[in-house]
Amino acid sequence: MNDWRKARLETLAVHAGHSVDPSTGAVSAPIHLSTTFERDADGSYSRGFSYTRRSNPNREALEYALSAFEGGTTAAAFASGSAATSAIFEALKPGDYVIMQTDAYYGTTQLVRDVFVRWGIEADFVDMTVPAEVDRAFARKPRLVWIETPSNPLLKIVDIEKIAERARAAGAISVCDNTWAPGLQRPFDFGVDVILHSTTKYIGGHCDVLGGIVIGREETELFGKIRGIQGEGGAVPSPFDCWLVLRGLRTLPWRMRAHSQNALAIARFLAAHPQVNRVYYPGLPTHPAHETALAQMREFSGMLSFEVKGEQETAMKVAAKTKIFIRATSLGGVESLIEHRASIEGPATRAPKGLLRLSVGLEHHDDLIADLDQALG
Ligand SMILES: *Cc1c(COP(=O)(O)O)cnc(C)c1O
Repeated sequence: MNDWRKARLETLAVHAGHSVDPSTGAVSAPIHLSTTFERDADGSYSRGFSYTRRSNPNREALEYALSAFEGGTTAAAFASGSAATSAIFEALKPGDYVIMQTDAYYGTTQLVRDVFVRWGIEADFVDMTVPAEVDRAFARKPRLVWIETPSNPLLKIVDIEKIAERARAAGAISVCDNTWAPGLQRPFDFGVDVILHSTTKYIGGHCDVLGGIVIGREETELFGKIRGIQGEGGAVPSPFDCWLVLRGLRTLPWRMRAHSQNALAIARFLAAHPQVNRVYYPGLPTHPAHETALAQMREFSGMLSFEVKGEQETAMKVAAKTKIFIRATSLGGVESLIEHRASIEGPATRAPKGLLRLSVGLEHHDDLIADLDQALG
């Protein structure tokens, strides 16, 4: 097989993990549903597979392709982004101290607080855009540092290189949740050790499959533990799920470009709208970390948030009136979504009451803008 790691991203996305099926000539990869694989007469497994929880041809193709896409050397796929996140924390040990981005994905925050703190992980949530907070946390010898950028739902931009460097100097593992910007920012270029994706979002790209993956820059002891947890814990994606996620990857770079361009047009429109108080989008020059975003991102992705003039009721009314934007959670699909975050996250939410989050899809941006315009009234 070609070494697709050296190809440009678009080419790599189409070809990595793909080969014409040698027995039939099928161009689209077959789905290997078999849970078990034949052993050779001498007892070995010369074809590389024994039992699907351990590995499977579709999963292996997906893991190779996504590790190549991010410029890593190894990967472990899971049944969801949260299962992948869990595997990283399960690879730590009780008493380990971790630093988390304050507005990391809500589910990640919940998982750490509700499950891993009970099992002895110590965690602090800090705003990694505030140096004094970062200093205070690093004074406590972290074992792991969790970066998520752009963040959810406030689109904060963390300087990946800076935090990864500090983690390295402190002997800590740095993880970047890159779910919001696959192909737009490559965290390994900035010295991060591990990348996490919820492949449910942009990589799957069509709101029809759950998945997650952990990608390692190098094959480390920690990564060996993560792979062990994958095979022994068994929170693995089905062969069909792997096939769907890999199909999503094929068009990812082109979709990200279109998502980003649509979102930028909408951000500009909203920033000038009299019913809008504030727009959170790293592609706008008014964003407080626009310069950092420019330095580490090629484009700025399809996620943006804005606050309407008024409170929760006004925001809910706007979401009720859209005709193209669908009221639903999640992100990264072809269809545009609108969501009132505070009411979905519940009482512990940090989202402003008047905030609406958009996952900008692949419709024409003029139609999306007209839809928001009529909804804002
Ligand atoms: C959705 C999401 C996750 C969790 O992934 P699931 O596939 O829903 O389990 C983790 N991180 C980010 C940034 C997400 O958007």
